[in-house]
Amino acid sequence: MTQTQTLIQAQFAHLHPEFEFQLAPLTYFKIGGPAEVFLDLTTREDIIDVVRFCHKHELKLTVLSGASNVIVSSHGLRGVVIRTGNEQYHILPDKLGEKQLIAVGAGYKTALFVRQTIDDGLGGLEYFLGVPGRLGGAIYNNAHYLSDLIGKHIHQVEVITRAGELRWLSQEECQFGYDRSVFQQTNDIILQAVFALLPGDKERSLELVKEATLYRAKTQPLGEPSSGCYFQNTPNSPLLKERFAQFAERRECPSAFLIDQAGLKGTRVGDIEVSTKHAAFFVNKGNGTSDQVLELAQLVKDRVKEKFGVELQEEVFLLE
Ligand SMILES: Cc1cc2nc3c(=O)[nH]c(=O)nc-3n(C[C@H](O)[C@H](O)[C@H](O)COP(=O)(O)OP(=O)(O)OC[C@H]3O[C@@H](n4cnc5c(N)ncnc54)[C@H](O)[C@@H]3O)c2cc1C
Repeated sequence: MTQTQTLIQAQFAHLHPEFEFQLAPLTYFKIGGPAEVFLDLTTREDIIDVVRFCHKHELKLTVLSGASNVIVSSHGLRGVVIRTGNEQYHILPDKLGEKQLIAVGAGYKTALFVRQTIDDGLGGLEYFLGVPGRLGGAIYNNAHYLSDLIGKHIHQVEVITRAGELRWLSQEECQFGYDRSVFQQTNDIILQAVFALLPGDKERSLELVKEATLYRAKTQPLGEPSSGCYFQNTPNSPLLKERFAQFAERRECPSAFLIDQAGLKGTRVGDIEVSTKHAAFFVNKGNGTSDQVLELAQLVKDRVKEKFGVELQEEVFLLE
């Protein structure tokens, strides 16, 4: 056993740590080598204990929740990898004006959370029912559906800092933007969030869910392993607006459109392919590796830069 494995085994045997645990099957992209230590943590208290222990012993700590928005290195991850799997859901007694407050763990699956809020007569999150993964990742990246951002519905977030300190952040302090939150800078670990939701109409909510689900099925390669859109949409510029008038009213120009216009649909490096259905998705056609993903990403970025002068930015997170 390595030194890290010995330390974790001595302290956390009751949490059933796994050693040299293959991460690929856990990820939506089916890519990733072994984790030196892997812990699936289902309570807030266990997450806190492990984070503080890693800080004290200076162990590298990587956080996953649903693993649908990551490229995990095929060479594996050293140190400790945790999955935040805490799933508590409480309707709080306090309200924010008309809005109901709900506290929910970072490990709650986003789709199930949305469904639960609809069943509890609340509205506003319907479009996020189709977002894979769990709330930790959805908050970290401020998950979006068209122009709706999940952060808009959040009142507060509880985190533990890498140094083991507990904190509550207000919505403003979370600095939510398109594909952006403060957690991408601080690296704090999200423990739970409090959502503020207005009363909804269940039938109308289910119609919105259906609408979004049909749109996704039509536009996204849902049957193939991927990590969703590889690239963010591109901030619109006068040049892009002039060239592509159909998007002139939008703040962003769709990256999928630019990649398609650059003739890149179906381009392949090894087993990784630019989806022929949605050009911002990369799909794994078999035994793709993280190196192949990175090579394809560079090729796409270079070609789009050459053709449109645009620097594509990654939407996915590389864990190595
Ligand atoms: C088919 C498909 C469709 C998708 N559609 C959408 C869409 O419509 N809109 C959208 O926004 N995204 C979409 N995605 C991307 C992805 O599903 C979402 O961004 C999702 O919210 C990520 O959550 P996750 O739990 O899987 O995060 P993970 O992939 O586990 O992690 C993502 C990042 O968040 C960090 N992280 C995870 N948990 C925590 C935590 N508790 N504390 C701190 N950091 C944490 C990780 O370290 C990593 O850097 C799609 C993906 C796929 C495969």
